[in-house]
Amino acid sequence: MSDSDSQGWGTATLGVRAGQQRTPEQEHAEPIFTTSSFTYGSAAEAAAKFAETEPGNIYSRFTNPTVRTFEERLAAMEGGEACVGTASGMSAILSTCMALLDGGDHIVASASLFGSTVSLFNNHLSRFGVSTTFVPLADLAAWEAAITPRTRMLFVETPSNPLTELVDLERLAGIAREHGVMLVVDNCFCTPALQRPLALGADLVVHSATKYLDGQGRCVGGAVVGDSERVGKKVRGFLRNAGPCMSPFNAWVFLKGLETLAVRMRAHGENAAALAGWLETHPAVERVYYPGLESHAQHVLAARQQRGFGGIVSFDVVGGRDNAWAVVDATRMLSITANLGDTRTTITHPATTTHGRNTDDQRRAAGIGEGLLRISVGLEDVDDIKNDLARGLQRLE
Ligand SMILES: *Cc1c(COP(=O)(O)O)cnc(C)c1O
Repeated sequence: MSDSDSQGWGTATLGVRAGQQRTPEQEHAEPIFTTSSFTYGSAAEAAAKFAETEPGNIYSRFTNPTVRTFEERLAAMEGGEACVGTASGMSAILSTCMALLDGGDHIVASASLFGSTVSLFNNHLSRFGVSTTFVPLADLAAWEAAITPRTRMLFVETPSNPLTELVDLERLAGIAREHGVMLVVDNCFCTPALQRPLALGADLVVHSATKYLDGQGRCVGGAVVGDSERVGKKVRGFLRNAGPCMSPFNAWVFLKGLETLAVRMRAHGENAAALAGWLETHPAVERVYYPGLESHAQHVLAARQQRGFGGIVSFDVVGGRDNAWAVVDATRMLSITANLGDTRTTITHPATTTHGRNTDDQRRAAGIGEGLLRISVGLEDVDDIKNDLARGLQRLE
């Protein structure tokens, strides 16, 4: 299916059909090419492929047909020219930084990033002379004030984890353009089904495919999407030599995920909205964080910037840690795990898990209290999710 066929298709259609390349067997669904290397008809053909004067597969660290189908499909869904599949979400972020930054460069990033991303920036990239300044996600003036002549990259997740705060991506992209720096968006929480950062002016999108793109908690993978110069040439060039490539089997699983992504994100959002509304009226709940609620400070921005409000709901229970832990321990169906973006609803206590290594001051600054719980709302019947939470909550009233 060539690119010209996919012009004008919606995200759901692209998720089902973009990037498919049928073999002469005329299979309907995508095959898995479990091969590490590829053969040539002659010495001259091998030479031409190695010299890149002739296109074609050489080795699955460089290219693989199943991985390429995933890359073309996700690129089409995000509206990017090029996509590179990676071994994990973290290797997507690492590869982006290694390919596009030099020693001495500076990153401005939102303070409420995924924990490993903070560690990557602070503990690893810093050893190669790349420094990072963290700013409050929604504070555009703080972003602008943190930019120095050495800044090359703004890095952001929106909505944030776990408090579902947003930044106005169009305005942040405007600041990036004005200062000649690139804007990189980790689009893990929304996926292209709900938010397309490139269309809002971002330069690159990174993904943890492990989450909603897989959607059923099975495989670890990631991706970088953007223009053909930076992603197609530079990020792919880094991957080719450094090696954190996506496995063909995982690419095949993610392709199945992309086919149902639009439907699943809608269903996650419906369940999340119902759960958030119910929690907001519960006497043992002090506050609910969900962009779909009218009480959310950035509800209007979320409605404009996103096509839906997503599947992550957080809430503060009355009292502190003991009460929050009691709600977790009273569940029988919900999975007690920090993972998210799964058909199975998960519950976690951020202050002692995902944010457990932060200092008390850092947690307080980030608004992560001892009574906070985060739910990644799955695809079970929402009444069963409510009942599982109600058991613990009713004891706190
Ligand atoms: C999980 C996650 C990552 C890291 O992805 P892995 O696939 O686990 O390496 C990056 N960003 C966000 C927002 C995530 O939730």
